[in-house]
Amino acid sequence: MSLLELTQITRIYKNGQIRIEALKDINLKIEEGDFISIMGPSGSGKSTLLNIIGCLDRPTSGTYEIAGTRIEKMNDSRLADIRNQLIGFVFQSFHLLPDLDAQANVELPLIYRGMGGRERQRRAIKALESVGLGERGHHLPSQLSGGEQQRVAIARAIVGQPRVLLADEPTGALDSKTGENIMAIFQKLNRELGITIVQVTHEENIARYGQRIFHLLDGEIDRIEEVGR
Ligand code: ADP
Ligand code: ADP
Repeated sequence: MSLLELTQITRIYKNGQIRIEALKDINLKIEEGDFISIMGPSGSGKSTLLNIIGCLDRPTSGTYEIAGTRIEKMNDSRLADIRNQLIGFVFQSFHLLPDLDAQANVELPLIYRGMGGRERQRRAIKALESVGLGERGHHLPSQLSGGEQQRVAIARAIVGQPRVLLADEPTGALDSKTGENIMAIFQKLNRELGITIVQVTHEENIARYGQRIFHLLDGEIDRIEEVGR
């Protein structure tokens, strides 16, 4: 059984008379432990696909199973539970709360789960250590570089021990050297902790940190590229 399995997924947006088929009949399987990159030109459906994989959006038709659970007919609250249990998100623009220090930002998902303070702190420190920021827990986002802020966001995404890390242009706001450092962290999380990673990027060199690249074109998977090492 694949960790993520999308079968004949279509997503149509309707605005009045205008109908946009953002995804057409997508079939794909992602196995536990994979590191996948999704590439494609602007408007090819990358964000739509990532939002469906991340249970932030639902397909118009088709089926989607996560760890054997069919999700496309679930109500919003069960979908949110699946999301919180299984998926961590990283965004281009970090989305840290500016008035909380790094450690408090990382603790947030655990607060939503009702975890007690001491355990929360322990896990947040461990997550910060795993992205090389063990010494920065009491810095505010404004006192950190862009790369460090993204590492805090990664720590926040993994602190709840998700099965899948989804990243939408995770290096898009960073210079190329810093972007490569973020990819080194993704590789380490993937190899050492076994976290499945799915990232969207338009940068070829960033995409090649994955084991496999799905090339999207006009809402379809145009080509699947195995990255040789
Ligand atoms: P990408 O991430 O590759 O740039 P998107 O998934 O954002 O592509 O968009 C795919 C297509 O769907 C585009 O034609 C885009 O204009 C359209 N689209 C995306 N979101 C919406 C929306 N909320 N309403 C209508 N059309 C949308
Ligand atoms: P940008 O940097 O272009 O604003 P982001 O990478 O921040 O884009 O966000 C990518 C997508 O994720 C957007 O469609 C946005 O609506 C959505 N998003 C951003 N933050 C959250 C969040 N905390 N929870 C769910 N969806 C989010």
